[in-house]
Amino acid sequence: MKVAVLGAKGRMGAEAVAAINAASDLTLSAALDLGDSLDQLVSSGTEIVVDFTTPDSVMKNLEFAIQNGIHVVVGTTGFDESKLNLLKSMLSKHPKVGALIAPNFGLGAVLMMQFSQTAAKYFESVEIVEMHHAHKVDAPSGTAIRTAEMITAARKQSKKPAMPDSTKSEIAGARGGKVGDVPVHSIRSHGYVAHQEVIFGDLGETLTIRHDSINRAGFMPGVLIGIRNVAKNPGLTVGLENYMGGM
Ligand code: NAP
Repeated sequence: MKVAVLGAKGRMGAEAVAAINAASDLTLSAALDLGDSLDQLVSSGTEIVVDFTTPDSVMKNLEFAIQNGIHVVVGTTGFDESKLNLLKSMLSKHPKVGALIAPNFGLGAVLMMQFSQTAAKYFESVEIVEMHHAHKVDAPSGTAIRTAEMITAARKQSKKPAMPDSTKSEIAGARGGKVGDVPVHSIRSHGYVAHQEVIFGDLGETLTIRHDSINRAGFMPGVLIGIRNVAKNPGLTVGLENYMGGM
């Protein structure tokens, strides 16, 4: 398979380039960064694009790839409902093209989200604390948003009442930002890569589910699963867990 990387000079893109070069079944067809022409995707015969750019750049890249029949594996974060709807409408005109949007390629992180979704049915309270390196431009992280959405859906399904919270006065932001039902607290500091704790509480007990990405190479097994499965799954897929059943 001929695979190109967009954002190839970035932290994640550079790891993706290395992982593709190390995989015997994949050929790196192009490694493009800001300012490079996307026409190279077509001239190099690229079949799959991996995008690790920025929330501002990604939609233009995906539009170009999809219009040219190229499958897309997307790690760039910042996908809200309106971006996903736009993507669905682009894909509807190219029904053979597959698109994977993966808020987190860490296999442990995907499991953390699934375990959290399961636990959500059993605890009255839940909050998320996520910790990332100081260069991260968006808050909360895509992983935290996705986890909070999955927990909110599980709480809704099991008809959980509102969480207990007696706060009467607060400094703005002290109780975090809410995603669905769930308060999310974002910490940015040198020394971190990507980490998340999901803290559940009920009478007399707490349960903490924690995932740590120690380095960016840890995301690459998940990126390779995405690359190897995207062409078999036309249309939009959100979440790597949808490809992990066949592992
Ligand atoms: P980064 O180091 O800033 O890399 C982004 C790279 O993309 C930079 O080299 C940037 O160039 C380049 N770029 C910007 N616009 C472009 C365009 N239109 N075409 C081609 N390249 C372009 O960021 P990062 O840490 O690698 O993270 C990239 C994205 O992945 C972020 O959204 C981050 O949140 C996300 N992420 C996802 C996962 C996951 O598992 N899904 C894990 C980690 C990070 P300039 O520097 O010149 O602007």
